[in-house]
Amino acid sequence: MSSLTKLYLAANAVDGHMLKGLLEQEGIQAVVRGDDFVPLQGGTLFKMETRPSVWVLDDEHLPRARALAADFGRRSTPSEGPPATWTCRCGETSEEQFTECWSCGRPKPEA
Ligand SMILES: [Zn+2]
Repeated sequence: MSSLTKLYLAANAVDGHMLKGLLEQEGIQAVVRGDDFVPLQGGTLFKMETRPSVWVLDDEHLPRARALAADFGRRSTPSEGPPATWTCRCGETSEEQFTECWSCGRPKPEA
């Protein structure tokens, strides 16, 4: 059985596709969503900020994919100041772009 699980919220389309490529090199099927979304709301010229996300197709690969994404996120984090993080109830710290704890899988608490 396969199901889509959101792995990573990318900073931009390039970021998302780079991670997707990295995962596929490891034999992990992934898709990038959101980067091809063009808002067409009443012809407004306002460009909506969309942040693509990377999804993993197979739950079996999630632990490995999370490790790769964590590594990738660390490298692609801009060097301006410390990266934003959140602390899970299990005590582990995850970076801001992760929607779940890398350790126990609990969802990120609402701010
Ligand atoms: Zn946790």
